[in-house]
Amino acid sequence: MIKGRMYVNGEWTGDSLDTIDVLNPATGEQVGTIPNGGKEEARAAIEAAHQAFPEWAALTALERANYLMKWHDLILENKDEIAEILTKEMGKPLAEAKGEIVYSASFISWFAEEGKRVYGRTVPASSPNKRIHVQKQPVGVVASITPWNFPAGMITRKMAPALAAGCTFVAKPAELTPLTAIKLVELCEEAGFPKGVVNLVMGDAKAIGEEMTSNENVRKLTFTGSTAVGKLLMKQSAERMLNVSLELGGHAPMIICDDADLDKAVDGVIASKFRNAGQTCVCGNRIFVQEAIVDAFLAKLKEKTQTLKVGNGLEEGVHIGPLIEKKGYDKVKKHVEDAVEKGAKVIIGGEGAEEGNAYFYQPTILTNISDDMLVMNEETFGPVAPIQTFKTDEEVIAKANNTRYGLAAYFFTENYSRGMKLSEKLEYGIVGWNDGVPAVAQAPFGGMKESGLGREGGQEGMEAFLETKFLSIGL
Ligand code: ADP
Repeated sequence: MIKGRMYVNGEWTGDSLDTIDVLNPATGEQVGTIPNGGKEEARAAIEAAHQAFPEWAALTALERANYLMKWHDLILENKDEIAEILTKEMGKPLAEAKGEIVYSASFISWFAEEGKRVYGRTVPASSPNKRIHVQKQPVGVVASITPWNFPAGMITRKMAPALAAGCTFVAKPAELTPLTAIKLVELCEEAGFPKGVVNLVMGDAKAIGEEMTSNENVRKLTFTGSTAVGKLLMKQSAERMLNVSLELGGHAPMIICDDADLDKAVDGVIASKFRNAGQTCVCGNRIFVQEAIVDAFLAKLKEKTQTLKVGNGLEEGVHIGPLIEKKGYDKVKKHVEDAVEKGAKVIIGGEGAEEGNAYFYQPTILTNISDDMLVMNEETFGPVAPIQTFKTDEEVIAKANNTRYGLAAYFFTENYSRGMKLSEKLEYGIVGWNDGVPAVAQAPFGGMKESGLGREGGQEGMEAFLETKFLSIGL
C-alpha cells in the first residue's frame, strides 16, 4: 500500500485531507491512497511555482539540463520499480510499462539538450539606425493536467520541455493513476531541483482545473485528455486569454492498400490497436482494407491476434491488461453489441469478463461494418478492430477524413507516389506510413480539428513553453 502525498514548495503535504483510493484495475484491490486536494492546494502550488520562477528562469540552459539529466538517470535506474507501480495502478503489461518509462525518460534527455538550442534571431531593420532582435523567453508558471493511459509519458512530455525552457511547473495527474506521478516527483526531489520548481497536486479535478485556469500567476495550461474536458478548459482559459496546449481525443483510420506488405500491415495494426488494450488516443479505430486483399489480410490478422493473451499485466506472457474501469468496459461492450445488432460479424473475440471490480475484454475483430455503427463514429478506447473494405483511394480518404477528430492516421503501401498522395490528403497531425507506433521525443505530436491545439515533442514541443519578444533598438 502506497500512501501518496502532494508535493508543494519542496514539502510532501496533504496528510490532513480526506483520501481517495487508488485501485488495481486487474484485481480491484487497493494499491494506495492519495489526498483529495482542491482549490487551496492548487493555489499554494501555483504560488510556490510563481516564487521559484525568477531564479529557475535565470539559470543557464546548461544548468537546467544538468538537473534534468540527473532526473532522467534516476528514472532509468528505478525503471523496474516505477514500471511495477504503473502496471499496478493502470493495468498495462509490465513490458509495456517498462517501455513507457524508457519513452518518458527520452523526453527528458531530448529536451535537456534542446533547451541549449533555444535560439532567437536578428532581422534586417528598415532603417540604418535600428536593429531588430527576436528573443525567446520562458512563458512562466505552467499548469498541467494529464490522463491515466500513460501515467508517466504524458507528464514528462510536458514537464521536460517546460523545465528546460525555464518554466516552473504544477502537475495534476489523473486520480486513477497518481502513484507513478508521485514516484517521478520523488525522483525530482532526489535530483535536487530547487523548491517550488516542481509541484504536484491531485484530488478534485474540477476544482483544481478552475484554480489553474483562473489564477493569474499561471501562464500556460497544458492538457491531455478527452475532447469534452479540453473544450471546457479552453472556455475557462478564454476568460483571461491563457495560453493553452490541448492534446485530445482521436478516431484514427488505418488504411491497408492492396500493394501493402501484409506482414508490416498486420504488425502495425496489432501494435496500434491492441497496445494498452486499445486505450490510447492514437490507436487505430477504423480499419479500411482494399477489397482485393481483405481475405489474406484478415487471415493473417486473425492468426496473430489469437496469440494475444489477456490477463493481469504483472503476469508473464500477458499482452493485454484490463480496461481501466467499468465505465470504459461498458463503452467497449456497448460498441460491440451495437455493431453486432446492426449486422457486424465477430471474427474473433467479442466478449468481456467481469471479475469483481476488474474488467477484461478479448481482442476483437469485426467485419460487415456499416457507417452508422458506434465503432465508426466514436473513440472505442478498447481492443476492438472494425474492418471495412474500400475500392479507391478517393473513397477511403473521404471516409478517413469524415470525422471531427484529426490526431493520428495510418496507411500501409509500398508504393511511394501513392503513399505521398495519401499522406498529403489525410487531415491528421500524425501520419504513420507503414508505421503503427510513430511517437518519439524528437517529433511533434498533436492533432488537427477537435483533436487539439499545439504539439508536444520536437522543436514545437519546446516552442509551446516559450514567449516570443520582438526587441526594436534605435541606435
Ligand atoms: P479520460 O476520459 O481519459 O479520463 P478526462 O478528460 O476525463 O479523460 O481526464 C483527463 C484528465 O482531466 C484527468 O487528469 C482528469 O482528472 C482531468 N479532468 C477531468 N475533468 C476535469 C475538469 N472538469 N477540470 C479539470 N480537469 C479535469
